[in-house]
Amino acid sequence: MKEKAVYRKNDMVTVTIEDVGMDGEGIGKADGYTLFIKDAVIGDLVEAKIMKAKKNYAYARLEKVLKPSPFRVKPLCDYARVCGGCQLQAVSYEEQLHFKERKIFRDLVHIGGFSKEEIEKVMEPVVGMEKPFYYRNKAQYPVGANKEGKLIAGFYAGRTHSIIANTDCKLGLTINGRILEAVLSFMERNHVTAYDETLHKGLVRHVLIRCGFATKEIMVCPVINGKAFPKAKEFIDGLLQIDLKEKGEDWKITSICISSNTKDTNVIMGDGFEVLYGKGYITDYIGDVAFRISPLSFYQVNPLQTKKLYEIALDYADLSGNETVWDLYCGIGTISLFLARKAGKVYGVEIIPQAIENARENAVINQIENVEFFVGKAEEVLPEKYEKEQIKADVIVVDPPRKGCDEKCLNTIVRMQPERIVYVSCDPATLARDLKYLRQNGYELRRVRGVDQFGQTVHVEVACCLQREDKANP
Ligand code: SAH
Repeated sequence: MKEKAVYRKNDMVTVTIEDVGMDGEGIGKADGYTLFIKDAVIGDLVEAKIMKAKKNYAYARLEKVLKPSPFRVKPLCDYARVCGGCQLQAVSYEEQLHFKERKIFRDLVHIGGFSKEEIEKVMEPVVGMEKPFYYRNKAQYPVGANKEGKLIAGFYAGRTHSIIANTDCKLGLTINGRILEAVLSFMERNHVTAYDETLHKGLVRHVLIRCGFATKEIMVCPVINGKAFPKAKEFIDGLLQIDLKEKGEDWKITSICISSNTKDTNVIMGDGFEVLYGKGYITDYIGDVAFRISPLSFYQVNPLQTKKLYEIALDYADLSGNETVWDLYCGIGTISLFLARKAGKVYGVEIIPQAIENARENAVINQIENVEFFVGKAEEVLPEKYEKEQIKADVIVVDPPRKGCDEKCLNTIVRMQPERIVYVSCDPATLARDLKYLRQNGYELRRVRGVDQFGQTVHVEVACCLQREDKANP
């Protein structure tokens, strides 16, 4: 057997990239080693420098692309490589979708224990975006000063806290740039300082911009290390004068708020906010359901794809109008309200009290009365309601955070014996783990579909439908 080479730091290797890792990095094999190479694209032949070598694998830095992959494209953003936000901008969008589909497929097989044939039978093609750029409705730009002391806004360079000036992120609206320039020029004129996190001094920490894609309403909310914002009137007037026409669309700033965050922390927003102009929220729609979005509300960042995702969830739920439906991990009630029109009764459960307040308000503004929301952990509220009040479930929808569902939650779901379970997931690995449990407890996986919510990034969103087995095979 050929003896395995020993790699050391700074060694150069030439390798073909055969796979894509969890963070979008290229993976190649050389001399029995697995090499992880950031910025290398599947199909590339590259020269890379070893940065850190372990027994069986090594991290290497891309030095030169010797032969570019057919999937390689020129990133739209000049900062794609230094920025931590987009891991896949150098990969064609079509191949990004393949990557996401492969990830779902593999996790279901390797972690979920399904056979390839089973997954091939139930998996539908991933739903891609029509325009995989300019899709985000929320941007949070850190504000700081460069070496010359000039005020800048931009983003943190990958895994660091140093700000790179760039007000033109290609995932958000281009008008964000005009708003940021206006904020910075107001600050320069009025000697308003930027926050310096190493000294915990200075005023403006971040600028949050949120927009309602359906209503064209925009909210601007500086986050400040202090209680008051100087010359608020001049600040407001400056913002309202900005020309916000873009590609034939007329956007309008309808809300200007300030959030005070005086803590020495990485958390961006403060605990509350003050309204300087307009209302303390903007409105947006997903389908025909209206949502009020305050500076602090959680709201899906890609409303166009979210609508597609929810339509799939609704289709999978297959409601006839009388069902009792549970929406676990409901956030501000987006899925609950979307389902309510087709269900008899919807119960939503969510751990964050403010989100439930928003959910209740959203039910009121949409005049949806057949929903009820509970604050608490899904794994605690669901068993309690089931055991003490015998509330039943025909369909249960879950949309948990990355870590997936607590086993106690899954166990209660199984005991409640809903006819169908719709699982919406942002992490195929924990999804696969949970599907394995549900399958071992009498549920058959009927449909699986990825929906790309975050083009240019490695994030993957999936919807699945499971059917109770006695119903599946009567
Ligand atoms: N379904 C919503 C939100 C999904 S994000 C939407 O589509 O907008 C996942 C949500 O689960 C978050 O709002 C988070 O606060 C909530 N959460 C996290 N752990 C939870 C738990 N143990 N029980 C209930 N909710 C939880």
